[in-house]
Amino acid sequence: MNNPQSEAAAVNAIPAEKILYRLQETFGSDRARIFTGRKFRVGVEASRAAAFPHSIEELSEMLRLAGSEKWRVIPAGAGSWLEAGNRPAFFHLIISTMMMNRISEYEPSDLTATVEAGAPLKTFNETAREHRQFIPLDPFGVEESTIGAVISTASSGPLRCAYGTPRDWLIGICVVHADGTITRAGGKVVKNVAGYDLCKLYTGSFGTLGIIAEMSFKLRAIPPAEKTLLLYSDQLESLCSIISKINGSELQPSALELLSQGDETVPGDPGKFTLAVRLLHEPDAIESQINELLKIAVGVSSSVLSNGDARTFWINYHSSEIERSVEFDLKLSGLPSDLMTSLDELRSTLPETRWRAHAANGVIRIHADHQWLEEFKNRERARKLKELRLHAQSRGGQLVIFQAPDELLEKLDVWGDVGPTADLMRTLKSKFDPDSLLNTGRFVAGI
Ligand SMILES: Cc1cc2nc3c(=O)[nH]c(=O)nc-3n(C[C@H](O)[C@H](O)[C@H](O)COP(=O)(O)OP(=O)(O)OC[C@H]3O[C@@H](n4cnc5c(N)ncnc54)[C@H](O)[C@@H]3O)c2cc1C
Repeated sequence: MNNPQSEAAAVNAIPAEKILYRLQETFGSDRARIFTGRKFRVGVEASRAAAFPHSIEELSEMLRLAGSEKWRVIPAGAGSWLEAGNRPAFFHLIISTMMMNRISEYEPSDLTATVEAGAPLKTFNETAREHRQFIPLDPFGVEESTIGAVISTASSGPLRCAYGTPRDWLIGICVVHADGTITRAGGKVVKNVAGYDLCKLYTGSFGTLGIIAEMSFKLRAIPPAEKTLLLYSDQLESLCSIISKINGSELQPSALELLSQGDETVPGDPGKFTLAVRLLHEPDAIESQINELLKIAVGVSSSVLSNGDARTFWINYHSSEIERSVEFDLKLSGLPSDLMTSLDELRSTLPETRWRAHAANGVIRIHADHQWLEEFKNRERARKLKELRLHAQSRGGQLVIFQAPDELLEKLDVWGDVGPTADLMRTLKSKFDPDSLLNTGRFVAGI
């Protein structure tokens, strides 16, 4: 009689060397490797096999082989953020798109481009800058972060205030499914409507439905000038009231970031809360918006950073976000109008630590280091985090745990309850990946 548990254990026990041998024998010795240490680390495994297809067809063949062998696969780009998500019970193989990194097509006159999934966003934007164009996304992450992963995780940064999220810029996609089937949706024409919803479906699916192989984007012209207005106050309420006024006005900030006291990237007064308003526009539009902003910002101090200084501020802001000393990384989201309530709950529930918010979007990112985690004792931590999550969920928000010590990840689901969406997600997973081979158990609702 079949025993599913012993079958699972037998499948689980396939040695990485055996997988490596099959891959190298079929695709060539440069197509697979075994990694130890941090590189491509997913959870607590000591070593892992990783494969590197060089084309969409080779990716399809690799997935076909993995499917026939029932190998569980972790899709990857540069492998810098594989620890995010629920820890898999086990997996057999990482398939990275790193060697699929070509710009397949770029039409500056049409403001569109098609790129392979393993191309780093930074590298593509450097090429497009020669034509004063860019994909206006600035997610946090290392320089090698691939565009496929940015789409797969729907990652965005401060610029989402003006430019939205990856879904707003993706117009076509090519995905390879667990059985090796290649699916294309949308196209490279901006007004292509058919298939648009599939682009939306794959965006943010965390590699659970298929491996993204190629994408088409619409691009944006790089604005000619920039300035950043910094507003400081020791009263958080004053800055939140300014944010409400900005959100209700005709002003068009490109980024609106609210920072906790003592944020190391802020020049000037580190003892205060800071609101950083980035303006990327024509020079005249920037000046008139700064005048308007200063009229709104009554009773708080301010300073203005121009072109080079403004750019340096945002570069430092991004690099401090991905410091390795951060051992605890949470995302608390809700309605923008609930920002002050969410911050009050955060500050009364957890010990004081660094937080930063996309103030126009109601997203708060919370970072802490080892010392903070030591002060905030184990049992207490899980209970408090659950409390904070319940508060957020009661207002339609979420608390996602991007990074935390293992003993906390064992007690808490990374994503939290997603409500009725869970059933829809399970149905989609069973249709797209019936044997549950891709990123198994890593995403919401245990899919
Ligand atoms: C230190 C750090 C902090 C970050 N903080 C944030 C943050 O606060 N908010 C935020 O939104 N993002 C954040 N990110 C994520 C970041 O924006 C990118 O999503 C990530 O850096 C992509 O890099 P990568 O190529 O190494 O992806 P990987 O680490 O290789 O993959 C990331 C995820 O995407 C999946 N994936 C990768 N490629 C594909 C593909 N082709 N098809 C399907 N699935 C795929 C993987 O399975 C994995 O779940 C952070 C990243 C880092 C390194």
